[in-house]
Amino acid sequence: LRESLVQSEKMAAMGTLVAGLSHELNNPLGIIIGYAQGLARRNTLEDSVRGAVASIERQAQRCAQLVRALLDFSRKKVPIRERVAVAVLFERVTELVRGQANRAGVSFEVLPPSPELPELEVSVQEIESALLNLITNALDATPSGGAVQVSAQPVAPGGGVELVVTDTGSGMSEEVLLRAFDPFFTTKPVGQGTGLGLSITRNIVEAHGGALDVKTSPGAGTTVRLWLPAAGAPPQAHRMEATAWK
Ligand code: ADP
Repeated sequence: LRESLVQSEKMAAMGTLVAGLSHELNNPLGIIIGYAQGLARRNTLEDSVRGAVASIERQAQRCAQLVRALLDFSRKKVPIRERVAVAVLFERVTELVRGQANRAGVSFEVLPPSPELPELEVSVQEIESALLNLITNALDATPSGGAVQVSAQPVAPGGGVELVVTDTGSGMSEEVLLRAFDPFFTTKPVGQGTGLGLSITRNIVEAHGGALDVKTSPGAGTTVRLWLPAAGAPPQAHRMEATAWK
């Protein structure tokens, strides 16, 4: 107990530090980006200078993206949990990613959940960002002509719910899968990935007493299942189901 207290104090101190630092970095980064954009608009620039300016902006944007992700990560919100139907979550998330799927030429399908599916009792915002992370990863991994599918089903007999995101994308090698949940691990090009998506998603899901499971096959695709307890289930049961389900 003592050790875990020390550990959580350390984490709290770390959180404050990270929040303060990210906040302080925001302003100078904003200024760098602003000047870089201003310079890029001048049409008298030599090509080599233009390239350098574009590079300054790209890298500063990358830092800004990381800083935003860190801020989100460190904010200690006490999330409000509310009862929500999975169909409502799917609708809201779908609106946000449909455009990205269309642009990428990837078929994006959401199977409407059965009316018998139990409701969830969750922080809607957090579960939405967890789903968004999983769907964005699926879309990023899937080439034009591929497919991403989102579905939900009840898990017998505990009454939990399984949300499933499947893609026909690149899949992951064993090395990538082993590190995929590490904070800051990314295989995406500069500016596209922070490497925080899966670690944040795991934190959110575990805070809800749920669990995540990844099945992947290089070259064929990936299926991520996100298990959450049904609304009204006693908290102890959540943990047992989560471990049994994994
Ligand atoms: P990011 O998306 O910023 O890279 P994540 O933590 O969400 O960070 O993902 C880490 C890495 O895991 C990704 O860069 C990618 O290599 C791998 N990954 C995650 N989801 C998938 C997927 N559906 N298909 C293939 N690789 C994936």
